[in-house]
Amino acid sequence: MPKKVSEIINGRRVIVKKPELLAPAGNLEKLKTAILYGADAVFIGGKEFSLRSSASNFSLEDIQEAVAFASEHGAHIHVTTNIVMHEENLEGLEDYLKALDALGVTAIICADPHVILTAKRLGLKMETHLSTQMSTTNEKAIAFWQRQGVDRVVLAREVSYAELKQIRVRTDLDLEYFIHGAMCINLSGRCMLSNYYSRRDANRGGCSQSCRWFYQLYDKEGQPVGQEPFTMSSRDLSLLREIPALIELGIDSFKIEGRMKSIHYIATVVSCYRKLIDAYCADPDGFVFDEFYEKEIAKAANRSLGKGFFYGVADKKGQLFNLRDEHPTQEFVMRVISYDPQNQIAKVEQRNHFRVGQQVEFFSPSHPNYVMTVEQLYNEAFEPIEVANHPMEILYLKVDRPLMPNDMARKVRT
Ligand code: SF4
Repeated sequence: MPKKVSEIINGRRVIVKKPELLAPAGNLEKLKTAILYGADAVFIGGKEFSLRSSASNFSLEDIQEAVAFASEHGAHIHVTTNIVMHEENLEGLEDYLKALDALGVTAIICADPHVILTAKRLGLKMETHLSTQMSTTNEKAIAFWQRQGVDRVVLAREVSYAELKQIRVRTDLDLEYFIHGAMCINLSGRCMLSNYYSRRDANRGGCSQSCRWFYQLYDKEGQPVGQEPFTMSSRDLSLLREIPALIELGIDSFKIEGRMKSIHYIATVVSCYRKLIDAYCADPDGFVFDEFYEKEIAKAANRSLGKGFFYGVADKKGQLFNLRDEHPTQEFVMRVISYDPQNQIAKVEQRNHFRVGQQVEFFSPSHPNYVMTVEQLYNEAFEPIEVANHPMEILYLKVDRPLMPNDMARKVRT
């Protein structure tokens, strides 16, 4: 039987099974950002046996630092070992898995039975999680993988809420479900477009996102159809409003996709879901959805958002035909290093161009957003300047509200 989600304590219903918020990271900076902004666990790719071969994957030394940082903050590290293995990939697996286990990695995410069975045979402490690459969509398949020793199944993005409800009551195995991020126009983990068009294997980390390229359509006589090139692209998934239903269902882990995304994206998205999950769990019966969450998510660079397969098979509203739009509404300009409360001066690291007179919005895992106009800006030598146009430059600016290290600011576009 799945674990109980809520209990009446002192006459009030409280959530006793809070889901894990699982975030992506493509490097150590992103990993630390995800944890500081509220992730309970972060999934990363190692240099070996991982998808996303083009992401800046983690060496064993990086993983050691990641585990130490995560432990300090009560968080966990999951490492993807989810390539579809060919003969040439088999060598070195045992040593690699033993090394991850010795470093204190919480779980590996696997897509090949050989990896799962090897991890089990070696008697490692790490959990084995079945990757979404395996397209698991029903309770019988979950039961099969449970018998093989899998500790958690990451369900296919194509599982609807109605199916999820049935699955949840029929298995006590940990379930992980995608709540946010990019979708595939084809069935996840089964697409060969990239393999055909660019000889880059989507199932070995090389997807060239061929679905989002421009195509010309031809009719059966070979005549071009339409003037405009044609593209295929799914809207990105965002299940903000569905979070309460997913918590009540007792889903164990909520997954955000996007190891290639920026720290601004990760901070914005993680922080938003963190606040929403905490608000709901603190008072499930009094909770009212605040549009703040949707407005906040829209500030991160992304495509238009949709509900994926949550309400059933995605129709054409779930797609972005002829639109390759990436539309951040605001732009990441600085990260806070420290704040001097006596002089009300923030020391920051510049990330994108801004100038005196620019309206910026500070956001943080620990305090509400704060919008202000930059009026006093100084370079590292504390000389007044008008423009910040050198990436990673250390700057100072007057901010009349306290800030915390790792708070960030974005431009406000009006
Ligand atoms: S080409 Fe598009 S649909 Fe195919 S795997 Fe890549 S992102 Fe997914």
